[in-house]
Amino acid sequence: MIKLFLFDIEGTTTDINFVHKVLFPYSYKNIEHYVLHHQTHPTVEKALEEVRKTVWSEEKKQLGLYEVIQKLKDWITTDRKHPALKEIQGLIWDVGYSKGEFQGHLYPDVKPFFSKILETKTQIGIYSSGSVHAQKLIFGFSTEGDLTPMISYFFDTKVGGKREKTSYERIALETNLTTKEIHFFSDIAEELKAAKAAGMAVTQVLREGTRSSDFEGITTFQTFMDYI
Ligand SMILES: [Mg+2]
Repeated sequence: MIKLFLFDIEGTTTDINFVHKVLFPYSYKNIEHYVLHHQTHPTVEKALEEVRKTVWSEEKKQLGLYEVIQKLKDWITTDRKHPALKEIQGLIWDVGYSKGEFQGHLYPDVKPFFSKILETKTQIGIYSSGSVHAQKLIFGFSTEGDLTPMISYFFDTKVGGKREKTSYERIALETNLTTKEIHFFSDIAEELKAAKAAGMAVTQVLREGTRSSDFEGITTFQTFMDYI
């Protein structure tokens, strides 16, 4: 019996364009100003140090502050999922959301589906490569209001990459469930494959522009509501 419904964000609950056309450009535009004004903030300081460490191990280069900022901008452009970048982006988006410059996009079928899930005493979790902080912002300042009270778990790549079987096993461990008690929704076939290999039930969510696969697919959660 399923006890936890686990959701990817980008391409599943949220339009991929929101991330690429709103969030990423906003962080790109503001990162220099933000880092220059918050470089002694412990989280920022630690993140900058991690960027330097990565660049040292990969390129044997020591970076000054402006070079670190440029590296972060390059990583935004190439969508590198580096934890230090994700950390700083989360802080920048904090500012954007709280100033009301944008709201987290959610497809209109998400909130009704979440409500239905909770009615059946099943739990809701999120697993996304964006930091937990960024995930809470999307759902907290969403177009459908604050949905964070509906969500019991948030996981990011601290549990491992989304295409690795062990990440899904770890999520089961951390929620005190077996993988068989978890149902994972994502738009990406490789992620579904890893979750299925770990033992989870999986469904592909086919939003506009998603490439379909051999996995069972739904175009809206509405079709899934009758199952639960
Ligand atoms: Mg996705």
